[in-house]
Amino acid sequence: MSGPKTDYRRLMDDEIARVRGIGREAGTDRPPSLLLHSCCGPCSTAVITELAPDFRLTVFYYNPNIDTAGEYARRAAEQRRAISLLAVPHPVEYLDEGHLPGDFLPEAEPLASEPEGGARCSVCFRIRLERTAVRARELGFDWFCSTLTVSPHKDAPRINAIGTAVAARVGVRWLPSDFKKRDGYGRSIALSREFGLYRQDYCGCLWSREARPE
Ligand code: SF4
Repeated sequence: MSGPKTDYRRLMDDEIARVRGIGREAGTDRPPSLLLHSCCGPCSTAVITELAPDFRLTVFYYNPNIDTAGEYARRAAEQRRAISLLAVPHPVEYLDEGHLPGDFLPEAEPLASEPEGGARCSVCFRIRLERTAVRARELGFDWFCSTLTVSPHKDAPRINAIGTAVAARVGVRWLPSDFKKRDGYGRSIALSREFGLYRQDYCGCLWSREARPE
């Protein structure tokens, strides 16, 4: 297993270079398909622009951690709007799994007292990545990945360790990432401002809502 000093950004660059090489050898301009789990429209902006030249992307909106149906609908609408506004070389598809808090709450409630970044978040990442991998396999995607590593509040080694373990269990390739590196987070903020996207002030679950500063 990769240690905490692994440079996931570098691993991603190496994988993408390999994907390009395979495409050149095959003489095809049809990139491989990738199911991209997205936590929200703002975070997805920088990630989509980064991956779209090399993959046929479908954004997978699966976030059962979001606390209310209204908040879910608002964030999903902003996700669709972000996709429609981005200038990308290949069309980006959108797949919404719907608001399914029952996937999250039974496992999260025993961890309610955990701080943001603690054990509850590992469960939250695993639930979201696992469903993404299962859908990727069912729908025949070549790869899966997540926008989660663009946030400076989210720990890339932990997300990549979970993604790698899920990939081995489900049998789909995980694209490692650390999108926050090389100013990915800064670009997501700039694009979100440019598009006037709603930038939520809490992560998503009811405990993160309660813990947000007044
Ligand atoms: S704080 Fe965010 S990542 Fe952690 S459990 Fe809540 S919604 Fe999930």
